[in-house]
Amino acid sequence: MAILITGGCGYIGSHTCIELCKAGYEVVALDNFHNAKPKVIERISALSGKPLTFYTCDIRDARGLSAIFEAHTVEAVIHFAGWKAVGESTVLPLEYYENNVSGTVTLLKVMRKFGCKRIVFSSSATVYGEENPSPLTEDMPVGKVANPYARTKLFNEHVIEDVCAADPDFCGMLLRYFNPIGAHESGTIGEDPNGIPNNLMPYIAQVAVGKLPYLQVFGNDYPTHDGTGIRDYIHVVDLARGHVAAVAYALSHTGAQVVNLGTGVGYSVLDVVTAFERVNQIPIPYKIVPRREGDVTIYLADPTKAKELLGWQAEHSLEDMCRDTWRWQQRNPNGYDDE
Ligand code: NAD
Ligand code: UDP
Repeated sequence: MAILITGGCGYIGSHTCIELCKAGYEVVALDNFHNAKPKVIERISALSGKPLTFYTCDIRDARGLSAIFEAHTVEAVIHFAGWKAVGESTVLPLEYYENNVSGTVTLLKVMRKFGCKRIVFSSSATVYGEENPSPLTEDMPVGKVANPYARTKLFNEHVIEDVCAADPDFCGMLLRYFNPIGAHESGTIGEDPNGIPNNLMPYIAQVAVGKLPYLQVFGNDYPTHDGTGIRDYIHVVDLARGHVAAVAYALSHTGAQVVNLGTGVGYSVLDVVTAFERVNQIPIPYKIVPRREGDVTIYLADPTKAKELLGWQAEHSLEDMCRDTWRWQQRNPNGYDDE
């Protein structure tokens, strides 16, 4: 009996493979390397203490997926595979709908063919939109989402809810992530963005390592304690453990459940910069620049449901996130391209 991880070579998927192995699950992973490097497979294997069972496969390829389901008895799927660049999704909406939504439909059809009735899906806090007040709870109406990427997450939530409604034995866990950052404490796996990072922590890490000259802080006129935007940053290993808890729940329940994975604690951009400097003893030069379009003042999870339903809560501090990000970046200044 195996757990299939789609997008298993990506940032969150790679950390989840390790946590699932540690928890005693048999893990089978697939990826098409759209946004990952094969090198991660040997790193996952080294950290798990056994070779990762891996297939190069695209989730839009029903035949390729079927071959995996024929080779393994898949009890549940954790579905990370997808494209995630918000800006790119506004330029390539059809490609995003095809990869993220059609890909998910193909996966669900193959699961149905093989009688696999449990899925844990990577949704995003972005589906709350801009109008709901933080802290965000799962019972809030999903918001007016701002871009095609966010809409693919919302559509997939609806698709999985409809599958659960059609089959009373089906379980769908819709996990809404807040801001995952950090890396495995070994410093051997972490986030490896293509080109100049869009997100705060990988940008800071590249300033720290000397690849970028300074951080641009997008606005210091927000109504927060220091004027910069507040987010709910969650250590990627905590997030991975949230998936272990979600899959355990899915194996013994039916129906659809929406669950926030966040810490419930918010930090501003300057809080993160200051913590990174303090923990790692490295100055991070920055300049205040105008607000970035589409950014909101504060985005924060209410993590109560995850604790009550799954018995899971985040354990790592902001300091851990800064320390582990730096260890990964320092040891792999060019990500998986090093060596
Ligand atoms: P990632 O890009 O590192 O990982 C996704 C993996 O899926 C990559 O390895 C990529 O090669 C693979 N992939 C993409 N399309 C595929 C396809 N058609 N077939 C097979 N493999 C495919 O991203 P991540 O940060 O690990 O995110 C994982 C999931 O979580 C994504 O669905 C993402 O949208 C979602 N998510 C991420 C964040 C975040 O901030 N990182 C926040 C909320 C939600
Ligand atoms: N941010 C910033 N400079 C950057 C990247 C991000 O000031 O180079 C800010 C951004 O305005 C937001 C916070 O950092 O307040 C988190 O941004 P990120 O892109 O990491 O996550 P998201 O916007 O998706 O929450």
